[in-house]
Amino acid sequence: MQKASNGTRARNRPEDQLGRKEGRTVSRQVLADHVYEELLASLMDGRLEPGTAVSIDGTARELDVSPTPVREALARLEHTGMVRRVALKGYRVAPVFTREDFADLMEARLAIEPVNARLACTRLNPHRLAELEQTVADLKSAPRGPSFAEYKDYLEADERFHQLIAQQTDNQFLVGAYAALGGQVQRFRLFGGVGITDAENAIAEHQSVLDALSGGDPEKAGAAMAAHIQKVRERAMADAPEE
Ligand SMILES: [Zn+2]
Repeated sequence: MQKASNGTRARNRPEDQLGRKEGRTVSRQVLADHVYEELLASLMDGRLEPGTAVSIDGTARELDVSPTPVREALARLEHTGMVRRVALKGYRVAPVFTREDFADLMEARLAIEPVNARLACTRLNPHRLAELEQTVADLKSAPRGPSFAEYKDYLEADERFHQLIAQQTDNQFLVGAYAALGGQVQRFRLFGGVGITDAENAIAEHQSVLDALSGGDPEKAGAAMAAHIQKVRERAMADAPEE
């Protein structure tokens, strides 16, 4: 893993720079987010390889932070499926998805997300529509790699689109079901070293979902989401390594 390129951190103790601000503790969230991003970048760019043990204390030393935000970041990463917690052994980098893992994930997404889109359509308001439009605009303007730093905004905008649609169902169980899918980082892991290869297709598909939502046609919205997920599956399978 690489240290943050932010040179100021070498001069200041993190407690001074990140831990306190005018005598107050800077939001622990900020620190945890920073550590999460650093670890995620190392995972996505392959600097931390599958099977590698991720030491909490070692990572904390390397990033010059306390173990607490590292623990929090690893718990979050476990939720995405990027690391696994092994009893008494701490965390290890999870294997890259197999074709079967992809197939399972896409099957689950296909079961959940078209329903989300259909329900979101019936519960949409102008504010929510504007939020969704913003995600498509962000996808169009985001850099596409090849390093994680250069495609993380793209990934974030892609995830935000799907997550907003889940939230717009106004159904806590559907929101939870979407969250259990772990976002899309495992799929994006495939783009390590090459960057986003299917941006034009994905943007057009998001636009179709958006058009159906703004047109107020729930069936069409569900169908457009199903088509998007099927095409993502086809593209991911084409990219996935043969076993
Ligand atoms: Zn998408």
